[in-house]
Amino acid sequence: MVEISKIKNVTVVGAGAMGYGIAQVALMAGYKVILVDIKENIVNNGLSKIKEGLKKAQIKDKLEEGVSVLDLMLKCKVSTDLSYAVKKSDFVFEAIIEKLDIKKQVCNLVMENSPPHCIFASNTSTFKITDIAKDSIRPENVIGMHFFFPVVLQCCVEVMKGEETTDRALDIGVEIGKSLPCLKGKRLSVRIEKESPGFIANRLLIPPIIYLSWIFDIASEKGIPWEQIDADAEARRLTPMGPCELTDYLGIDTTYNSLRSYEKIFSPDFAPGKVLTELVNKGHLGRKSGRGFYDWTRGKAEINLDKKAGILNPEMTMAIMLNEGCKLLEENIVSGYKVINDVMLAGTSMPGPFGSGKRNYEKWSKILEEFVEVSDKTFLKPCELMKSGGFINMRK
Ligand code: NAD
Repeated sequence: MVEISKIKNVTVVGAGAMGYGIAQVALMAGYKVILVDIKENIVNNGLSKIKEGLKKAQIKDKLEEGVSVLDLMLKCKVSTDLSYAVKKSDFVFEAIIEKLDIKKQVCNLVMENSPPHCIFASNTSTFKITDIAKDSIRPENVIGMHFFFPVVLQCCVEVMKGEETTDRALDIGVEIGKSLPCLKGKRLSVRIEKESPGFIANRLLIPPIIYLSWIFDIASEKGIPWEQIDADAEARRLTPMGPCELTDYLGIDTTYNSLRSYEKIFSPDFAPGKVLTELVNKGHLGRKSGRGFYDWTRGKAEINLDKKAGILNPEMTMAIMLNEGCKLLEENIVSGYKVINDVMLAGTSMPGPFGSGKRNYEKWSKILEEFVEVSDKTFLKPCELMKSGGFINMRK
């Protein structure tokens, strides 16, 4: 197995929102990078985004002394031929579309064509690393490495094992994670020993979409404008963006695919509702396609938050996240809740649920029970550790 200091050649597969960000920080860390996608115009677009990002980093004085944007860009190649691109790769970041069959194909192809020491790190939001790796020739070298958008600004990366991953591969992933700079401070590279589809963050962030998708459908039936839903969430006061704006920002297809995956892994309650399904079918994928809940064709969407609809309870998201965090403790994915709060803060710039959860767990258990009663979404039932407040003694 290769040592971290010997890792020089990195390939990033997927030149979308996550891929170009990962490629940028890998270049800033000193690796040689090949960026791969299926079409030339997509990789070239990714390359322009990297250059733009590096220029911004330079203005903020975040490039190493004596290193110019040009120096770094010379270390970045592009390709549409994955088998060829990974011939000399020591480490491969996979950041392609969230579809299991395609991730598996890419993993198999990389493992067949790269040197035996090469590690494959998937940025999957929801799948089991074991499932991505199992038909490849070296599942022991496959890890999960989950970044947050935008990669250059959100300082967390979660690094996780699959069933067959060796400790060594996990160690290297954690070290590589630490080596990747972040414009806001040191990168937090979190080691997760036990497999959890969605790592820590998405185990907390995806279940609230069960509730939000239910609200979107009610709003659509009642003809309520989306901005009133964002106003209900106290957007720009309690949270930087309301749920409609945030879904547009992250990509509606990404949210949709995450729900479909969790529907298979955890519960039918994750099935996307009518509104999300229609938006995806129409190709209204949010900011990246110009339309989603809002119109992004002229730059940032104009959202008037003056009027509330009064149908979304802004406490529900935190209540659901506290419940999911407690489930992670019950499943022994983590042994204390500090790491969950740390991941949420470094990955999303929002506090985790345990601080306010200590004061509110009884009230929040009650609102979850009431929601399950009206919606029949039993996945959101509060677990024992939340209801009893037993998590309070498990900080660590
Ligand atoms: P994206 O749609 O912006 O980019 C995906 C890219 O993958 C596209 O450019 C597409 O052409 C390319 N692609 C598809 N099939 C390919 C193949 N066979 N070979 C090479 N390239 C291929 O998506 P994204 O938001 O960058 O997400 C990528 C991954 O990261 C997904 O697994 C997603 O769940 C995960 N993720 C996304 C976020 C986020 O906030 N967007 C955060 C963390 C993780």
